[in-house]
Amino acid sequence: MTETFLGMPATAPPGVGHLRGDEPFPVAARRALGDAQLRRNVGHATSTIRARSAAVIGEVPDWPQLRAAARAIKTDTMARLPELLEQLEAAVGRAGGTVHWAADAVEANRIVTDLVRAAGADRVMKVKSMATQEIGLNEALEAAGIEPVETDLAELIVQLGDDRPSHILVPAIHRNRAEIREIFLRTMPGVDPALTDEPAALAAAARRHLRETFLSTRVAVSGANFAVAETGTLAVVESEGNGRMCLTLPETLITVMGIEKVVPTWRDLEVFLQLLPRASTGERMNPYTSMWTGVTPGDGPQAFHLVLLDNGRSAVLADPVGREALHCIRCSACLNVCPVYERTGGHAYGSVYPGPIGAVLSPQLTGVADNASLPYASSLCGACYDACPVMIDIPSILVHLRGQAPHPRGEAAAMAAAAYTMDHPALYAAAQRGAKLSRLAGPRGRGLPPPLSGWTASRDLPEPPPQTFRQWWADR
Ligand code: SF4
Repeated sequence: MTETFLGMPATAPPGVGHLRGDEPFPVAARRALGDAQLRRNVGHATSTIRARSAAVIGEVPDWPQLRAAARAIKTDTMARLPELLEQLEAAVGRAGGTVHWAADAVEANRIVTDLVRAAGADRVMKVKSMATQEIGLNEALEAAGIEPVETDLAELIVQLGDDRPSHILVPAIHRNRAEIREIFLRTMPGVDPALTDEPAALAAAARRHLRETFLSTRVAVSGANFAVAETGTLAVVESEGNGRMCLTLPETLITVMGIEKVVPTWRDLEVFLQLLPRASTGERMNPYTSMWTGVTPGDGPQAFHLVLLDNGRSAVLADPVGREALHCIRCSACLNVCPVYERTGGHAYGSVYPGPIGAVLSPQLTGVADNASLPYASSLCGACYDACPVMIDIPSILVHLRGQAPHPRGEAAAMAAAAYTMDHPALYAAAQRGAKLSRLAGPRGRGLPPPLSGWTASRDLPEPPPQTFRQWWADR
């Protein structure tokens, strides 16, 4: 294992951005489970995407080899991250762009706000971006008197509805057509009162609303799916074409990118561009793949700024087990197969990163103590690992993080007592005899008495066998 450190690893600061929820996962999940409409919306959407994705993945005979290649590239990238980021910085600079290093959300928000002000703009149009959601950029811009306009359809629905995203790829997955129509009628200036909830009509209303923004806004803010270190090329993949408009029409383009999104070469990009669309939207190829390298005179934005965001990523990188979470390409396949996510939706996770990847990424970015319930938001069924196109072993990271989460004193004492008992054969045999006596208490299923009742509140208590292994062995 190669050790890689980018300076002193620090976690994402509290009080800014959207990595911490207001309440623990079990509390938020219980409330979400009571919302039948939400469960229907999320269940319908995830099962549709799952089926579409499985069909197109089935067409690729070398899918396992592609996954293994992606894993190898990401492992190599993480081992050489400082070197690759410096290579990227030099290449972007040679192509006429400017690179800014942001240690955390506060610094990234300040850099972007200053750049927008320096461009003399009071409005920016945005391409869908998880990194800017993570740092709370929209709130920071609004506080500085700058209006951010989301141009991705689902992000627009979330913004207009004063809502929060609940899925990495489909931020408004918790809304159905009727709810979206109601949001548009309530908030969209000049919308036709006869608007129906047909998807084509809703998309046309959004298109009319955004057209004026595309043509009149001089600064755009984007994220990036990938950055190629050897040439300084940035890539954004999307389905609607709004990203292409934002990346080509404005005078100034500002891209905020997590440092883990760098790939060494164009050949590496080839692997990910095959995996991502099939695993995410269930498409053979992304409808729009936009790539740009610095600035081209007379063509597209004439000023380009790349903000490289750490915000806890160095701390993740410093953990030899947990760093695998940085391999994520945000396809959301793990969300779509997760039985927990399917029932609770994304808001219960509190962070902008929901589902299995959120359960391992958010606690590491913030420090486990600030998101201590998330590593438990899983049944460890392993469906996420099977679905992940870059083979992130999410279940193993979950178990690893559970070991770091602060445990209640009673639980720690019970575990210590269990360890002591197992370490002393005579005591262990006595405990087994004691467990057998519990058969006299009648049929099981009622659970353990307090303070151990929390353990059996959601688990069956197995019936102790009539004979222990030692007795069985002695009999023979
Ligand atoms: S962990 Fe894997 S499956 Fe989940 S979003 Fe990231 S790349 Fe996709």
